[in-house]
This record gives sequence, C-alpha cells and structure tokens, in this order.
Amino acid sequence: MAVSGPLGTFRLPPLPTIREIIRLFKLQAVKQLSQNFLLDLRLTDKIVRKAGSLTNAYVYEVGPGPGGITRSILNAGIAELLVVEKDSRFIPGLQMLSDAAPGKLRIVHGDVLTFKIERAFPESLKRQWEDDPPNVHIIGNLPFSVSTPLIIKWLENVSHRNGPFAYGRTQMTLTFQKEVAERLIASKGSKQRSRLSIMAQYLCDVQHVLTIPGRAFVPKPEVDVGVVHFTPLTQPKIEQPFKLVEKVVQNAFQFRRKYCYRGLGMLFPEAQRMERTGKLLESADVDPTLRPTQLSVSHFQSLCDVYRKMCDEDPHLFAYNFREELRHTSEKRERDDGESLQ
Ligand code: SAM
Repeated sequence: MAVSGPLGTFRLPPLPTIREIIRLFKLQAVKQLSQNFLLDLRLTDKIVRKAGSLTNAYVYEVGPGPGGITRSILNAGIAELLVVEKDSRFIPGLQMLSDAAPGKLRIVHGDVLTFKIERAFPESLKRQWEDDPPNVHIIGNLPFSVSTPLIIKWLENVSHRNGPFAYGRTQMTLTFQKEVAERLIASKGSKQRSRLSIMAQYLCDVQHVLTIPGRAFVPKPEVDVGVVHFTPLTQPKIEQPFKLVEKVVQNAFQFRRKYCYRGLGMLFPEAQRMERTGKLLESADVDPTLRPTQLSVSHFQSLCDVYRKMCDEDPHLFAYNFREELRHTSEKRERDDGESLQ
C-alpha cells in the first residue's frame, strides 16, 4: 500500500532493494546494450533533485531499467510518471513499482527514439514558448550510445518546438559520458569546445549539475558520468533552420586544430572555395585565423546568417557536399587513368 508523508505527500511503501529486484527478476546487465545500473537510492535522489521541483509534475523517464531513478521520481511529489523501456525483462519489476504507486506510474515497453511523448500528457499542461517552462520534465540515464543521438534529435525538436517541446520549454536532466557532458557545456576557447557545445548552447541554457564516479554503477563503466540539465531558451541565439546551423557548425569543426577558414571552406564547391569562403568570413566579420574552438555562438550566428543569404542566392549551395565532390573527382581520375592505359 502507498504511504503518505507528513504533509500528505506520496511516499513509496517499503520495497525490495534494487539489488534484490535485479536478483528476483534475473536482470543481469547486458554488456552489448551498455546497461549500467544505479543501485544507491541516495544517489538517484540526488540526480532527481537536480531536475528542480517536481511537485505535481508530469515526468517522462527514458530507460528506467530496474527502477532506481524511477523510485526517486515517484517519491518527489509528482502527478504522473511515464517510463519508456526497451528491454522487456524490466517490465515486471516496473509493474511492481506501479502497483506500489497506484495511478502514478505508466509503463511503456518501447523505444525512446520513436516514442511520441507529445500525445502522452494532458493538453492543459501546454505553455506558450515565452512563458515559464511547463511542469513537464524529462529525466534519464540512458546508454551513452543512445543519449548522444537522442540529444541531437531533441535539440532539433527544441528548434521546431515539437516532440517533447510541444508542451513548451520542457526541461531535461540527462546523463552522459563525462567527456560528452563537458563538451555540451564547453565555453569558447576551451579544449572540449565542439559541435555539441554550439548546437546545445544556441538553443538551451545548459548546466553540468553533477558528476557521478563510474564506481557508483553496476557494472562499473569505463568512464565517469556527467548529469546535464537543459532548459530551452525563449529566444534561440541563432535564428536559422536547425539543419543549416548543423551544417555550418559541422563544417567549421571539420579540422578542429586548423584555422576556421579551412573547415568553413568545405561549405563551397572547390572551384569557388577561396573566393566564397573569403566572402563568408568577411561579411560575417569573423577572423579567418581563429580556431573553431575560439568561435563564439555569436560568431556562428553571423556565419549562419551570411551562409543563409548565400544559399538563398544560389539554390544549389545548401545541397553541396564536399565529400561527394571528392568521391566524384577521384572516380573521374580513376576512369581517366584507366582510359589512358588502354
Ligand atoms: N535508469 C536505470 C538506472 O539508472 O539504473 C538504467 C540505466 S541503463 C544505463 C539504460 C537503460 O535504458 C536500460 O534499462 C536499457 O534497457 C534502456 N534503453 C536502452 N536503449 C533504450 C531505448 N532506445 N529506448 C528505451 N530504453 C532504452
């Protein structure tokens, strides 16, 4: 039976420990799926506190596994928790938690990469983008191989204000390999500054809120883990389509140790590369000899704005891909060499 706390807030009743749940339901971690579990509920409470106040919140937990973080969320005064777990072995253990928290926990056996959260919570939770964030939160400790592509997908959703951001500026508290957490928050000039830093920071306020040593997980991963909190900005720092920003940023960081003009030049076909890269940098007022790691978000804003104008003037430009040009050139060279030998 569920238990009420001193202020009438919900608390889970005494339950078997996570270690006992793992034993009971034979939930050995599958190494190939990078399953690393948190068994210490003080630690999962700490992670959940980093999400901010969850009073009456609607929470979407991704990858609950044996349910450590799930228990901490259920004890945080929430209205409803929806969990999406891919591995069916965890469903009976989660069902036990659901029985202990009547009406609070919804379990979906599915994949976070395809699950449509925008239809899962009441419409009444929706807020205007410019308002305070809605009382909807995403929390998760996913395998690193899923969390990085997922954050890129969710950043794109932030830019379109759809998916989990159909409710407004939904906040996210997610774990990453510590190195990735450092890249997400890296400021201009730092060694970790990368594509992820710009893509995250132009759309969100990003905070590295906690580091968890690898030894806190079972089995222990090779690396420490960073917990990162994201709040979408009311006004993105770059007002261009996500795919365009991604293209400029990706090209800029192509050669991270070289001057930025080298990577940015790859936005243009070889025949006009020098001239058009010069025009891009001059119009954006960016020093060509800065390294990509020294570029600020506002440098990227100017670069994206100028590149957008260049794409509007030349409709073929955005589709240009220097790798394809390289491949065609080398195929042509091989054909020409073959012909000259005949
Ligand atoms: N949250 C639990 C914890 O902290 O102990 C488990 C963490 S474990 C690193 C990651 C969990 O995410 C596993 O339960 C795994 O089965 C699940 N998972 C992996 N990929 C998933 C996906 N695409 N969709 C939903 N769940 C996924």
